[in-house]
Amino acid sequence: MSNYQAPMRDMQFLLHEVFNAEQLWQRMPAVAELIDKDTADAILSEGAKLTSEVIAPLNRNSDEQGATWTNGDVTTPDGFDKAYQLYCDGGWGGLSGDPEHGGMGMPKMLQSFVEEMTQSASISFALYPMLTAGASLALSAHASTEMKQTYLENMYSGKWAGTMCLTEPHAGSDLGIMTAKAEPLDDGSFALSGTKIFITGGEQDLTENIIHLVLAKIPGAPEGPRGISMFVVPKFLLNDDGSLGARNPVTCGSIEHKMGIKGSATCVMNFDSAKGFLVGEENKGLNYMFTMMNYERLGMGIQGVGAAESSYQQAAEYAIERIQGRSATGVKSADKKADSLIVHPDVRKMLLTMRAFNEGGRCFSTYVAKQLDIVKFSDDDNEKKQAEQLVALLTPVAKAFMTDMAYESCNLGQMVFGGHGYVREWGQEQLVRDVRIAQIYEGTNGIQALDLLGRKVVANQGKFLELYFTEISNFIENNAEQQALAAFTKPLASALQKLKAITQLIITLQSDDKDMVGASATDYLAAFGLLSYAYMWAMMAEKSSDQADENFYQAKLYVGEFFIARLLPRIDGHILAIEAGSKSLMAMPEGLFNYNH
Ligand SMILES: Cc1cc2nc3c(=O)[nH]c(=O)nc-3n(C[C@H](O)[C@H](O)[C@H](O)COP(=O)(O)OP(=O)(O)OC[C@H]3O[C@@H](n4cnc5c(N)ncnc54)[C@H](O)[C@@H]3O)c2cc1C
Repeated sequence: MSNYQAPMRDMQFLLHEVFNAEQLWQRMPAVAELIDKDTADAILSEGAKLTSEVIAPLNRNSDEQGATWTNGDVTTPDGFDKAYQLYCDGGWGGLSGDPEHGGMGMPKMLQSFVEEMTQSASISFALYPMLTAGASLALSAHASTEMKQTYLENMYSGKWAGTMCLTEPHAGSDLGIMTAKAEPLDDGSFALSGTKIFITGGEQDLTENIIHLVLAKIPGAPEGPRGISMFVVPKFLLNDDGSLGARNPVTCGSIEHKMGIKGSATCVMNFDSAKGFLVGEENKGLNYMFTMMNYERLGMGIQGVGAAESSYQQAAEYAIERIQGRSATGVKSADKKADSLIVHPDVRKMLLTMRAFNEGGRCFSTYVAKQLDIVKFSDDDNEKKQAEQLVALLTPVAKAFMTDMAYESCNLGQMVFGGHGYVREWGQEQLVRDVRIAQIYEGTNGIQALDLLGRKVVANQGKFLELYFTEISNFIENNAEQQALAAFTKPLASALQKLKAITQLIITLQSDDKDMVGASATDYLAAFGLLSYAYMWAMMAEKSSDQADENFYQAKLYVGEFFIARLLPRIDGHILAIEAGSKSLMAMPEGLFNYNH
């Protein structure tokens, strides 16, 4: 069941009020000409129309019907082809693409909202253009001019799709042990052999060509991640005039039968001496792929918020309409046999938790998108460098914390419906199944946590962290006199102190305890995420407290206060768990994990 409405007001609030996007755009020549407030609002409203009217109605059937495989061909669910065509005709595929190659050059802050709307409407559908956008970004950043000219325009227009081929049966989190091989050919191209699994959109019937970005090893390359190169492997090779030529031997062996996102084809891809073209330099493939993966990782966080927003909208409506039981403070609907679910504190807690995580997450992804825009468009080297460091630090948090909270939110949305949430009719169980993958792919959330704590915090002795923490401290200081904000800034200051202390403790203990980082990482990321959302809520409260007479701002303050009172305290549990160290995790001998021993 779909009655999704894009949260336009919240998106406009973040763009225009919290993050002053226009001011930022005005001082960046590459976007100043392209966009202003009215254009941004018009783009959002067109995106809202497409996603709610065209894509969202397909979501239920895409789950029932799924993508299907026959003799190497994949058929997407009914209606995906027409919706995809409309998506492409509207230019959405190239929204933030490079204008030199037919993209529209729009900022990420704006694009991230369109992504969220598309994910809310249907994760299965959204994945097809999402992978193409990520592949285009990697090519735009690392490919030669000739390669960009060959592929980008058709990828931005949606005529061709892109994929990301990393995973192999025995190489998932540890890509260093991959075995896909790229043998050099006389004409300077390569022959790629091997099997990649779980490839999203590896085969489909939406586009006339598919441009696979494939990681593989050239014989003689160094062992491990430093010996991986990136190749473009088109499904159809191109003739000299750019028209489609011979079929390249890259084929879809089967598709997976999965828990959710059934309309998204997850493919086993076989490369049988398929012709590939090296992107950039040899052995730098994993670095290049990180351009795509970082894009996708923020996109996963946005995917989570998108699904959880859909879940919230339905759950809030249901909780108001469904009557069960009476309020503890006296009858509220005397004309009815029972009061609405919304009178019950526990139902309110579920809805407020969802909303606090959704709006906190949307604000956080916009904050990270703003840093990405600074990296891409700013002329100020110092500002760019700082933004780069913030992106590096915050990307794993956006991926993992946003999706963890989204999964919790979708489960809560299902719970608001009681038994009706468990049956197919209302769409809540599909959201739970669909959103679960966001915690797993693009590097599991456990791997994100190790990236945050191991690489981004401990390995550089908290340098990136210092930058972020100083920004939060400055915000607290600048608002110290604002009594109306004290309910936000004081708990934020306390959470910041706790994070600083626990970071120091981990940095100290890990030199003696080599399992300390691994033992602390997921709790650390959760505490870090809570601190970040508290900062986001404080920023949103700052822009709302003067205007508390309007419903929108009033709701912001109510939800923000709920976050501070009922969700931020979770930080203490995570810190206690970290303080317990690695002993209780590592003490039990390996053999005792298996009951047969
Ligand atoms: C629906 C779907 C779509 C996908 N789409 C794509 C795609 O388009 N392209 C692509 O290349 N891949 C894709 N993937 C693959 C996905 O990215 C991987 O499944 C994921 O990265 C995890 O790898 P794995 O499954 O091999 O798990 P493993 O790496 O075997 O991990 C298993 C568990 O062990 C943990 N673990 C592993 N190593 C460590 C470590 N060093 N320290 C601590 N914990 C560890 C993990 O966190 C996880 O919980 C997709 C997967 C699915 C299911």
